[in-house]
Amino acid sequence: MKAYLKETPARGGVLRDIPVPVPGEGEVLIKVKATAICGTDIHIHEWNAWAQGAVKNLPIVMGHEFSGEVVDLGPGVKDLKKGDYVSGETHIPCGRCYQCRNGQQHICANLLLPGVHRNGSFAEYIAYPELCSVKMPRSIAPEYGAVMEPLGVGVNAVMEGHVGGSNIAVVGCGPIGIGMIAVASAMGAARIFALDISEYRLGLAKESGARYAFNPAKSDPVKEIRDLTDGVGVDAFFDASGSPEAIVQAFKFLRKGGHAHLVGLPSRPVTLDLVADIVFKEATVHGYHGRKMFQTWTAMMNLLDGGKVNLKPIVSHTMPLARADEAFELIHGGNVSKVVLVP
Ligand code: ZN
Repeated sequence: MKAYLKETPARGGVLRDIPVPVPGEGEVLIKVKATAICGTDIHIHEWNAWAQGAVKNLPIVMGHEFSGEVVDLGPGVKDLKKGDYVSGETHIPCGRCYQCRNGQQHICANLLLPGVHRNGSFAEYIAYPELCSVKMPRSIAPEYGAVMEPLGVGVNAVMEGHVGGSNIAVVGCGPIGIGMIAVASAMGAARIFALDISEYRLGLAKESGARYAFNPAKSDPVKEIRDLTDGVGVDAFFDASGSPEAIVQAFKFLRKGGHAHLVGLPSRPVTLDLVADIVFKEATVHGYHGRKMFQTWTAMMNLLDGGKVNLKPIVSHTMPLARADEAFELIHGGNVSKVVLVP
């Protein structure tokens, strides 16, 4: 089969012919219908410091966001059948650690990720645990099935945030931020303020339900948001930017007693004024690593199958897997949302 590999510890990736994997105990073989490029894949493609620390076994098939069809069953598979349409939950839990035994398997102490620790989805086939192959309604097209995983990060945060009737800000309008805006809008958020330094992404934010879009490079969002909320600030902000400066700024337009929801991954420590930003403000800070397994998935499928969320602004490009090099170049050029590869 064709697969896109990180073969050597250097920048880039390479398309190769490799054997179709054989599903092991409790695994299914999935014919990949669509697979999306994530920030993690970009780090691995660039081979930055994080990737060098995280990816230990080369060569590895890159990619982890995917949808596809079950075409074979390994020993011990109990529920999935050939022909089932599935999307991959990319957090593979151990099932034995403290978190796994206490209802938090999505933050398992021994998480394994495809495309990082084991072969991923930039390939025609992937062998994958039945547990993490989520059966999906056919109404969700494969390119959207491939972005359920990143969408779910935002859905998890927005659901925990109980946004109905609240004024919220979404900081960073990449695919996860756009997904949060779409879902928050569906869940009844009152006014949604979107922030990004890309005008292209702010356009997508408005298309997805943001009422106001601010470019912090052009105006002061703290003043803008305070002015529009009678000096109060937003009830909650959701950071999907991972920008230390943007997070510091977001705490300034968060109202007293508000909630900070952090999804983005800053590449360095963030310095906050704890007294003003959290203690006297009585702010509550939440972090999210992925999706609840599997409550988030159930909610997402219900929202999509029920026609409540439009994913069109999230997937901006669909390309053949054979053009993966070009897809990575396209992402570096900006003005893209999600790029989906089709094997
Ligand atoms: Zn575990």
